[in-house]
Amino acid sequence: MLDIPLPGPEKFIWPVFVVEGTKKREAISSMPGQYRLSADMLLKELSRVTKEGIGGILVFGVADKGKKDNNGSMAFSAKGTVQKAVREIKREFPELVTCTDVCLCAYTNHGHCGPLDRSGIVNNDKANQMLAKTAVSHAEAGADCVAPSAMMDGQVVSIRKALDKAGFNQTILMSYSTKFASAMYGPFRDAENSAPGKGDRNGYQASYGNIRQALLESQLDEIEGADILMVKPSLFYLDILEKLRGQTNLPIAAYNVSGEYSMLIATADRGWGNLNAMVRESTIALCRAGADIIISYWAGRYKEIFRT
Ligand SMILES: [Zn+2]
Repeated sequence: MLDIPLPGPEKFIWPVFVVEGTKKREAISSMPGQYRLSADMLLKELSRVTKEGIGGILVFGVADKGKKDNNGSMAFSAKGTVQKAVREIKREFPELVTCTDVCLCAYTNHGHCGPLDRSGIVNNDKANQMLAKTAVSHAEAGADCVAPSAMMDGQVVSIRKALDKAGFNQTILMSYSTKFASAMYGPFRDAENSAPGKGDRNGYQASYGNIRQALLESQLDEIEGADILMVKPSLFYLDILEKLRGQTNLPIAAYNVSGEYSMLIATADRGWGNLNAMVRESTIALCRAGADIIISYWAGRYKEIFRT
């Protein structure tokens, strides 16, 4: 009776990958059960998950290779993959909370989260301008919530200001406020084809050994005006989640990342564990640690995993 119940579907946000074109449903080999979908195919999936009561989605765009440039300009084009998809999603499912990933790495020809300067280093201030433009273009398309994931200094305040100036003061800002430089993102990079061509992103993601820095990052984003904070990845960072819960009154989202998803599938595939039981246990762990929102690939399989 005193047990924390399994979270209802409304607590979940499902990350989805949208590609250009129609009738596309490409399996992501490192994330069994997840697909890159063209907008029309995504709508079909959404009619299923909205019936199951899923709380929301988080839309990632995958740009065609030929359209990538140094600035990642397709990220903020009204004709971008995400913008087109969001317009269709909100037309069909006006009630579905639609969040969008705001970053440039899927749109830059070098795979970094902001434009590079002449010495090959990400230009933080320029990146903030591009990210703000991207967030506004998503809000114009109908996004309810924008989620900046680039980890640039000052990105939250830049985006908040730009949204307010454009009349989108109601648009929710969910910040990837504590995002670790983690080895658990591998399958996602496969899904988004967004591994950096050269170098890594460790310079602008938190070190997983540093608790104080991790908590400070979230605190700064709260001061900058974030509406929802996030811990990413989640299962390896339950202590951070719990400490952050004690530090803030904002809602906290736990991002149950691709590696955490695929790890359980791989274990179950080898007959070393029961998939549904492992997913349920790990999900309860996130709730116990203080997550209000669970961003998870399991959301797309809610009925199969949690209702059987
Ligand atoms: Zn990025």
